[in-house]
Amino acid sequence: MRRTFGALLAVLFLPCISFARSRVKIKKSGFDLKKAPNVLLVTFDTTRADHLSCFGYVRRTSPTIDTLAAHGVLFMNAYTVEPLTGPSHITMMTSLYPQQHGATINGMHMSTHPRPVLLAQILHHLGYKTAAFISAWTLKKSITGLGKGYNVYNENFTYHYKLVNSARRGDQMGRASRKWLRKHGHSHFFLWVHYFDPHHPYVLHSKFANLPHIKNPRIFPVSAKADPHRAAEIRAYDSEIAFDDNDLAKTLKLLDDLGVRDNTLIVLVADHGESLGEHGIWGHGYHIYQPTVHVPMIYSFPKEIPQGERIKTNVSTVDILPTVLSYIGLSFKVPGQEGYSLKPMIQHDVKDDVHAPPSFFEAYAEPALLPPKWMSMFWTWAETKRDPSMTGFVQGNLKVISSGSNDALSVYHLSDNYSKTKLLANRNLKVANLSGYKEELDNWFKETNRGLTPQVDLSKQDMEMLKSLGYANP
Ligand SMILES: [Zn+2]
Repeated sequence: MRRTFGALLAVLFLPCISFARSRVKIKKSGFDLKKAPNVLLVTFDTTRADHLSCFGYVRRTSPTIDTLAAHGVLFMNAYTVEPLTGPSHITMMTSLYPQQHGATINGMHMSTHPRPVLLAQILHHLGYKTAAFISAWTLKKSITGLGKGYNVYNENFTYHYKLVNSARRGDQMGRASRKWLRKHGHSHFFLWVHYFDPHHPYVLHSKFANLPHIKNPRIFPVSAKADPHRAAEIRAYDSEIAFDDNDLAKTLKLLDDLGVRDNTLIVLVADHGESLGEHGIWGHGYHIYQPTVHVPMIYSFPKEIPQGERIKTNVSTVDILPTVLSYIGLSFKVPGQEGYSLKPMIQHDVKDDVHAPPSFFEAYAEPALLPPKWMSMFWTWAETKRDPSMTGFVQGNLKVISSGSNDALSVYHLSDNYSKTKLLANRNLKVANLSGYKEELDNWFKETNRGLTPQVDLSKQDMEMLKSLGYANP
């Protein structure tokens, strides 16, 4: 288990949801819609942290994201829980690990009986207008179950890949979402926008093919001289990030034009990163090396959140839902919640807490199970897979990965250069330490894999909220 405090013991899901209940009970939990900010959640697919200029990457791939970070806090060491689109996004929306919400690989629907509580369901029930604009097949509501709680769940894909209408470009998604925002920007809104372009296959956008360099860069891609093919792929990948970053600028400007930016909590995060030839690997999904699990994470809300701060403490995408709820002023834990609110860390300036709880991650897919490369845009197979092929965690500057049938442990020392990790030889590590790491991982998976047993320590307020959401007997 990740956290040692709070209601983290187990999961309670009850099947019946209706939203016809009175909101009086929610008010008792201290929530006041009039005082609550709007919420804009921006997810960048396949965007590794160390290819953003705000992390010191040499190319200016992300001027908009850099500015957003300057107007909020940038988590320098945020981790996804699993480097796959469907499972990762469902975790953000539920604060549950994949083994809890049930969708362990792409193409799997989250558990329906019992069913997790989604962020959008809570916000919709509180009176928010809710909309999602997604850009890839793997997030379709029929596949994931993520559509619940939205007034609009827009998945009008325009990009044909082979035979399937499987995705859309960031500018098309952005245009559609801004149309909605112009109409509803003066209501209390929750808007989720999903940019997909950095996903393979990488397209070189001519407008962003020759990005200017930042001052004092720390991270450089491989040179064209050393490896022409790899360098060309990375250049195209970088241009995809810049393409979506360019569209995001229009959405942020619209918030300014509508005069609602100051009352909007903006959360920006990637669902996972991308391996660009490191360890001889391209893509994501079946390994948990730094390039695929280290993601950017930003919270911006100038009214409350300090501006321009950088926090080094390790955090996780499982923390997003509780952090959003605490910023809107709702005291409520979803059943089984594994993350914790980052608000105290953000507000109290805890920048480098090496004693923070571990951030865990895992991979379920294996190379043998992956579809052919030409299917990678929309692979939807759904073999039920209950045991991860790899698990790992970071704590402080230590990273541990357990893999293989004999659960072989690899221990790494993390550096400020993000994807550059140093493998520590097991012979130099104490046996007691190694067995401690193994025990930590085993306990985490055992505790979180219990899925469906009743939660035993619900607070009175949690029970009120669940009743308000239509859960019959919490
Ligand atoms: Zn993804």
